[in-house]
Amino acid sequence: EMIETGWNFDNSYARLPNIFFTKQNLHAVRAPKLTILNEPLAQSLGLDARSLQSDESVAELAGNRVPVGALPLAQAYAGHQFGHFNMLGDGRAILLGEQITPTNERFDIQLKGAGRTPYSRGGDGRAALGPMLREYIISEAMHGLGIPTTRSLAVVSTGEPVIRETGLPGSILTRVAASHIRVGTFQYAARWGTKEDLCALADYTLERHFPEVAADSNRHLSLLQKVIKRQAELIAKWQLVGFIHGVMNTDNMSISGETIDYGPCAFMDVYDLETVFSSIDTQGRYAYGNQPNIGGWNLARLAESLLPLLHENLEEAYKLAEKELQAFPKLYYANWLSGMRKKLGLFNEEVEDEALIEELLGMMQKYRVDYTNTFLSLTFDKRGDTALFDSKEFGDWFEEWQARLSRQEESKSSVLQLMRNNNPAVIPRNHRVEEALDAAEQGDLSVMEQLLGVLSNPYAHTPKQEEYSTLPVQSNCSYKTFCGT
Ligand code: AMP
Ligand code: MG
Ligand code: MG
Repeated sequence: EMIETGWNFDNSYARLPNIFFTKQNLHAVRAPKLTILNEPLAQSLGLDARSLQSDESVAELAGNRVPVGALPLAQAYAGHQFGHFNMLGDGRAILLGEQITPTNERFDIQLKGAGRTPYSRGGDGRAALGPMLREYIISEAMHGLGIPTTRSLAVVSTGEPVIRETGLPGSILTRVAASHIRVGTFQYAARWGTKEDLCALADYTLERHFPEVAADSNRHLSLLQKVIKRQAELIAKWQLVGFIHGVMNTDNMSISGETIDYGPCAFMDVYDLETVFSSIDTQGRYAYGNQPNIGGWNLARLAESLLPLLHENLEEAYKLAEKELQAFPKLYYANWLSGMRKKLGLFNEEVEDEALIEELLGMMQKYRVDYTNTFLSLTFDKRGDTALFDSKEFGDWFEEWQARLSRQEESKSSVLQLMRNNNPAVIPRNHRVEEALDAAEQGDLSVMEQLLGVLSNPYAHTPKQEEYSTLPVQSNCSYKTFCGT
């Protein structure tokens, strides 16, 4: 009996002015095979997980046939890459369309690694299996942590090699996103579109992501305000879990406020503001401690792009934009501080909290201790002998913290609960991710599946998760990540 897969596409992006995309034929691959399918995500999208595993569906996820209702296209965008402005666009991704879910939500369905497009420049349009599985793991971990993110519906292998330093198995990731509209999409419109094109993009974005302000008297200023607010919230969440994006180019900053483009990202182990994993980020532009600044820099590029829409007088437009941009660092800091208070079990606010937090972080940096596990130790009052916990200055800090806790009304058990809910038991540690990818590349998906299981519920604090919080035997400070593989 035939079961409907449940695709229910609309193609609203294709109704934008045609400078924003190029319709794109799909490129068939030799031997598509399903590597992994995200069944809970499929279900929430209104898709039948069993039917998705059929040959017909796998062919669709590989670009070998067009699902009913899809209208494949490559999106045009620009972006500042490490500070340099470039024309970019989907060079290896094809948007199938927008899945309208049973609860009437709209999600982009995009095939990443689906072959060349007019925006591929020198690239082959393809992706290797390891990096796509890595994106799958880390994006799903972010979702588990409660951090807005694009998600991963499936990875298929293509049966074709991709040529990198060596030949690698090719694959395609089905990426699910609130949308793929980026800061760079606005930069593209501002640079190469007419004012009408820019306005069409802004109004489309308002309608899709911020309908509550679409009727405001200065709706495009409201749009800027909303994006600033979402990015302040998002980047604060990254900082609180120690996530390093690694390539915060303006084309990799989503207008919807989701984390997007999992290339050289990784989680920090030892607390250090200067942590960089990306092999190409030699200047530390995208270092852990610099992410909030870069967020502000990127948002300034968005504001510049929107200037013609903010006021008919450019001088006035500039003043309006400036005022919104100035709010960003404060908004970011307020979000971060509120998150840090929760990590330390603080329900109310005292002025001295900032100093208390900064002192702890300063000691963590000085004694080079693991960020996630230090907070876990504080949560469960299990302090092993680390240089930090053995130090006199930590002892003094600990007493201050205890005194601070006793000045609030909440019971010890509510403090424990708050800390448990804000200090993850498990993050996708680099050595665990590598172990899962190594096994997957040998055809054994079970290691990855177990890891995904643990990562899907990082605040559960079960013994199983404790097992995943152990550090690698060998310190991996020199861990390196790579872009665009
Ligand atoms: P990213 O660094 O992932 O943000 O990618 C920057 C740009 O390079 C985007 O326009 C991508 O579409 C493009 N790109 C990355 N890898 C490839 C590839 N293998 N083939 C073609 N274009 C690519
Ligand atoms: Mg990108
Ligand atoms: Mg990328």
